[in-house]
Amino acid sequence: MIQISQKCVGCGKCTTVCPFGALSLANRKAVASAACTMCGACVSQCPVGALSLPINGAAKKDLSAYKGIWVFLEIADNASVRHVRSVGYELLSKGRELANQVGEELCAVIIGNNIQPFFAEISQYGADKIYAVESPAYTQYNTAAYAHAMITLIKKYNPSVVLFPSTYVGRDLSPRLAAELFVGLTADCTGLAIKEGNLIQTRPAFGGNILADIKCPDYRPQMATVRPNVFKKVAAAPGKVAQVLRETIPVCTEAARVRVINTHMDPPVSGQKLDEAEVVIAGGRGMKNKAGFDLLENLAQQLGGTVGASRAAIDLGLKKKEDQIGQSGVTIAAKFYVACGISGAVQHVCGIEHSDVIVGINKDANAPIFNVCKYGFVGDALQILPKILEQLKK
Ligand code: FAD
Ligand code: SF4
Ligand code: SF4
Repeated sequence: MIQISQKCVGCGKCTTVCPFGALSLANRKAVASAACTMCGACVSQCPVGALSLPINGAAKKDLSAYKGIWVFLEIADNASVRHVRSVGYELLSKGRELANQVGEELCAVIIGNNIQPFFAEISQYGADKIYAVESPAYTQYNTAAYAHAMITLIKKYNPSVVLFPSTYVGRDLSPRLAAELFVGLTADCTGLAIKEGNLIQTRPAFGGNILADIKCPDYRPQMATVRPNVFKKVAAAPGKVAQVLRETIPVCTEAARVRVINTHMDPPVSGQKLDEAEVVIAGGRGMKNKAGFDLLENLAQQLGGTVGASRAAIDLGLKKKEDQIGQSGVTIAAKFYVACGISGAVQHVCGIEHSDVIVGINKDANAPIFNVCKYGFVGDALQILPKILEQLKK
């Protein structure tokens, strides 16, 4: 929470700038409530320098007290079949490797209502323990409520590593925890390893042109988010039964500040989500116009797949932003991926490299896409695609 020093003269200026309504005056002094997210917006507004963030309060920790690899699992509640998001199992699979390496426990954390049906499946993806926080009050995701529950668990059990899916929920929750716990957080990691007791968190940096290894050697837990399809989900191990620890954590009062009145889901354009599709046909600037993308839609239909695009094609308005594949779009892990008129820039390739079979169609034989392709066609995609479609029809 923001710190208010004795210097406060009660001018009230800060109370009007806090976007969370966390500051008020009492007895002619500023006071902060639990609604403070430590965003820091008020600090520079105080004319007498009475406000500060308690960054220096983060004393170095006794690292040996922190053990265990944790994975936060998210429930997809708005799907037709309520389920644990697959990315959670991908993280458990990676977490299993890390836990084996350091000889520590792999633990899943699940918060929600009616979560018992998921325990068997979570066990099968390698968790040794499941921390379960169950209450009707946790039915819908609420930042403050979930953050309070996670912080309570983390402070009680001291995990060494906590991994989050890079989904809307994971991206919302994890920074909040990092701020409150005074620990680092590495977003959108593409690699995780443990070296000399530290989690090495690899992610693209400087516009994706280098891969940076990040570590947090002085503080625990070490926290990272990972996008779907970055790690492979290992086959479930039937028969494994994780120990379930049910934790009763009352919902914090701050949660009442936000009420979900209604939810609206945009229908997926082609009925299949890019990050879940087995066959993905993508187009780049080389497909030129709508007629070029119609060829891709045709091919996707023939192969039972879905259509994505490079950023250049999105910028040209040939597809919607949510169809972008790559560093600032979706990461896919298709069985079969075809890149048509896409050069193969590193920012695109990092979103497709987990696909099993990559095919490139490009008129430039030196295009970098051919470095990652299993099969390549050198030629004009606008001429090659109609021929492929003709053959498929036959
Ligand atoms: P171009 O680079 O213009 O390539 C077009 C290709 O089509 C060329 O290789 C050309 O030879 C070929 N071609 C032309 N005509 C034909 C034809 N008739 N038949 C066959 N081949 C043809 N990009 C992404 O895709 N996804 C991202 O998420 C992403 N994130 C980014 C994030 C950052 C921070 C930055 C800096 C960039 C990002 N980019 C991303 C952009 C990326 O660097 C490239 O600019 C982009 O991928 C290029 O798209 P493209 O290959 O379609 O276009
Ligand atoms: Fe006190 Fe500074 Fe806030 Fe004024 S702006 S009420 S002096 S903390
Ligand atoms: Fe409000 Fe941010 Fe200041 Fe906290 S740090 S009191 S949330 S403006």
